[in-house]
Parts: sequence; structure tokens; C-alpha cells
Amino acid sequence: MPSTVNELEISGFLETSFIDWDGLITSVIYLPGCNLRCPFCHNHELIFSDKSPKKMKIDSQLVLNHLSEKKDWVDGLTVTGGEPTFHMGALVPFLEEVKKIGLKVKLDTNGSNPFVIQKLIDLKLVDYVAMDIKSRLSDEKYHAAVGVNLSVDKIKESIKIIIDSGVDHEFRTTVVPTLVSSSDVVSIAKDLIGCKLYVLQKFHNENAWKEPFTTMASYDDEGMKVMGGSISDVVPVKLRLR
Ligand code: SF4
Repeated sequence: MPSTVNELEISGFLETSFIDWDGLITSVIYLPGCNLRCPFCHNHELIFSDKSPKKMKIDSQLVLNHLSEKKDWVDGLTVTGGEPTFHMGALVPFLEEVKKIGLKVKLDTNGSNPFVIQKLIDLKLVDYVAMDIKSRLSDEKYHAAVGVNLSVDKIKESIKIIIDSGVDHEFRTTVVPTLVSSSDVVSIAKDLIGCKLYVLQKFHNENAWKEPFTTMASYDDEGMKVMGGSISDVVPVKLRLR
């Protein structure tokens, strides 16, 4: 039996955000659980879905009611996590309701679930996809960056799906020292040729949850600018230094 809107687990709801979708005002829902264990995860309370202090479930119908009331004040909804694609069953009917309200949808994803990304695009349920690229696309580098074994073939598949789809998108890398070097950034950019935007995000150790990342210094702004400049003729690049 297909899942229903009411079965969507929502662990957090932010009424208004000015930073989750560049240029747009969005509400944000946070879905619990993730298959990866990035040591620098900024939402790490969410990734252990059974231990999360944010485990309390927010009524999805109340979220939809709120979105309906505020539809003239927000441009869209950002769906983030955790990893939202692991909620596909209930996420599909939920997003169908969001589209009926008339809001745009942005999906944040780690790219490990290409089948679901393709499905949501095919169903026209997403208007923008922001996919993380955690490191250079080799199994060894990715393992270090995401804390689990993950075939980068899945990541490559998701990249291709997103670029070929025509849907607005960005790929983004949090440039974590020891996990992402300047040569890794160049290598990633070459794997993203044809994308609409590649964002280099500054690492902030206060968001990390594992040693040694909780005390690790980030690249400075100048270093980030040099990395951005080194790939500006390969892909459209943007720096997020905040
Ligand atoms: S993929 Fe995202 S939510 Fe999952 S562990 Fe990594 S940073 Fe956290």
C-alpha cells in the first residue's frame, strides 16, 4: 500500500529561511536519518534517527497547513536532513501537496540514492537540487570523507542525472582540510563539467562532531578564493565563506 502524507517523518520545521536557497525565501523541513557519517556533519543530531533529540515527529499536515497560509510570504520549501531521499514513500505524496499549494521545492541530497533523485525529477516534484560532493570521486577519498563505504558510482550516476535533467541545481563541497585538497577541488570540477553551478563552502569546525575536525582550522578566505579561481574556467563557481 502506498505511503501517505501523514507518514512523513519530519524532525524539524523552520518557518522562514533566507539562506537555504540563494535569492529565495523558503520554509525548511528536516527529515531524520542518513546513510552517511560525515565527521564534519552540520546536522549530526539528525543522522542517528533513533537517538536524535529532534526525534519528535512534527505533524506533516500541520506543516502543509502552515505552508498554505504563508504561500504569499515564502517562495518555496527546502527539504533537507539527514538524507531526504530515504523517505521517498511518504515524501512523494507530501511534495505533491506542496506543489498543489504552488510552492517551489529545493532538495538537498548527498547523492547516494540516484534512483530517488531521478524519480523526484521525473515526477516534477523538485525545482532545484543541491547535491553534496564530499571529496574527489574515488572510493578511497570518499570513504574518508563520509565515514562509511560508498561506491562513488552512485555519486557519478546522480551527477549525470542532475546535469542531464535540465533542473536548476548546484553541486557543493565543504572544503575540509585533510579531506579535500586544492588538487581534489580541480579533480571534482572536471567531473562536474556541464553543471550549472559548483559551490565551494568554507568548513566551520563548530559544526563538526568528530575529532580531529571539531578543532581543525579551515582554509582561510584567501585560500578559498585561490581554489575558486583555479577552477573558474572549468565550471561556474561560487564561494560560500559564511
Ligand atoms: S550526508 Fe549530510 S546529513 Fe548525512 S552525515 Fe553527511 S553531512 Fe550529515
